[in-house]
Amino acid sequence: MSVVMWFRKDLRVQDNPALRMACDHAEAQGTDVRAVFIITPGQYLQHGTSTNQLDFMRQNLVILGERLHDIGIPLDVISCTDFEAVPDRLAEYAHTCGLSALYANTEIEWNERKRDQAVRASGLPVSVIDSSGILPLGDVRNLSGERYKVFTPYSRRWFERAAVYPVLPLAEPNRPTHAPKTLSPLSSNNDALAAWHPVPTALVQEWQGGESAAHEALARFVAEDIVLYPQDRDMPNVPGTSQLSHYLAMGILSPRQCLAAVMAEYPDVLVNQGSPARPWVRQLVWREFYVNLMREVPRVARGGNYQALGDLIPWRSAPDEFQAWAEGRTGYPLVDAAMRQLVQTGWMHNRLRMVAASFLAKHLLIDWRRGEAFFAAHLIDGDYAANNGGWQWSAGTGCDAQPYFRMFNPSAQGMKFDPQAAFIRQFVPELAAVPAKAIHGMAGLHALSHDQSYPEPMVDHREARARALASLAVLKKSAAL
Ligand SMILES: Cc1cc2nc3c(=O)[nH]c(=O)nc-3n(C[C@H](O)[C@H](O)[C@H](O)COP(=O)(O)OP(=O)(O)OC[C@H]3O[C@@H](n4cnc5c(N)ncnc54)[C@H](O)[C@@H]3O)c2cc1C
Repeated sequence: MSVVMWFRKDLRVQDNPALRMACDHAEAQGTDVRAVFIITPGQYLQHGTSTNQLDFMRQNLVILGERLHDIGIPLDVISCTDFEAVPDRLAEYAHTCGLSALYANTEIEWNERKRDQAVRASGLPVSVIDSSGILPLGDVRNLSGERYKVFTPYSRRWFERAAVYPVLPLAEPNRPTHAPKTLSPLSSNNDALAAWHPVPTALVQEWQGGESAAHEALARFVAEDIVLYPQDRDMPNVPGTSQLSHYLAMGILSPRQCLAAVMAEYPDVLVNQGSPARPWVRQLVWREFYVNLMREVPRVARGGNYQALGDLIPWRSAPDEFQAWAEGRTGYPLVDAAMRQLVQTGWMHNRLRMVAASFLAKHLLIDWRRGEAFFAAHLIDGDYAANNGGWQWSAGTGCDAQPYFRMFNPSAQGMKFDPQAAFIRQFVPELAAVPAKAIHGMAGLHALSHDQSYPEPMVDHREARARALASLAVLKKSAAL
């Protein structure tokens, strides 16, 4: 008999509540613990998950297998086409390993929840543990017990609630007493992993996998950079943000571990609004805001506009314009540098995600869902809740979104956040010899660029703004759901 830990987007051994429960259960029962991961290539295709992220997932599965091996837990990697096939595949697996109990951590997305319901309905003894955030799902409520529809009061309440929860991430479980004596790093049941080789489209070698690398990066950020975060976080040319998102998206690092690391250095961060570490912790709160939104608003979970009036926006099809945006050929240097950063590295700076998303949805009036899908197809840190939240915020259709009539001016954003145009020049080499002032001024860039290879702006900012204001005005009477 085996108690089985089912890993999904929680590829870590430390602070893993479901793994801990599986180990405790096995100890009490006097049985062994196994771990399983199910590769579902058809589902990744359906979700449009980037091969950059899948490659990173694969890298982390190998490391996880080794970590589990150290504590006497074999990792079986099996596969089936998609989520629909998971209950049958798990039942087959359960039969071969004599499964007596199955533990997993929550996944809040719609298809993932349907999959878990189907597994439960199939009769498998599965326990799904809430571990998606620092606070339990649905914990942050207003005085009437309702979900917050605006971030600032949500965040205020979040800090109050978090201050009363002890933040002590779980240590790694002990080696189970009944661990098999001989064990290869990955169990022999790993043909599926050996046969699975997602081919990344970006240069992702620099994204180092594994819990140790994640904790080192977290420790370095907290020790050295977190105090500078408020001043540097918007400057794409400065490594001023933590760059931990790929670890968080794949659950290699938990948000509780992040908060615990911060609190070790800044013990009052939850109660002192002036704590230098507070702005960064607030980003973790944004993460949780969107996780809860996705879990609680079925319309959002199923790809709809948060604001129902968003359904009335007359989006343009404009496939050529979409393509130019995707390839970083809009003629707006900051937008182009951003899109090229995404395609070349699999990651994009937050300020640029906002600028590039706003440009697609507002300047070009192209449905935010197409941009969301393009981001997911390239990001190494793709996360449905955060990506959806960011896109709907940018398009004006979201919960506590940027109002429809506010539009980023890409050249003003460039002047403010990349004043020397160093970031732009890095990703748009056609402009390498053009002075920053000319880059931000945008006049005659085509002529100034190397071999006149940089395109003319694809839309005029003022005209685009007027068009967006007219078309997005359907959101005017929007009331939050
Ligand atoms: C259009 C758009 C799309 C986005 N898509 C994603 C996505 O697919 N995956 C993703 O993790 N983030 C996404 N974000 C949020 C944010 O851009 C990234 O989390 C951030 O750039 C990651 O870099 P970092 O780890 O250095 O962030 P830091 O600034 O160091 O923040 C720390 C952590 O907080 C979380 N976080 C920060 N900002 C946000 C936010 N606005 N919303 C939710 N969580 C946040 C992330 O987990 C991040 O790693 C998106 C934002 C926008 C505007």
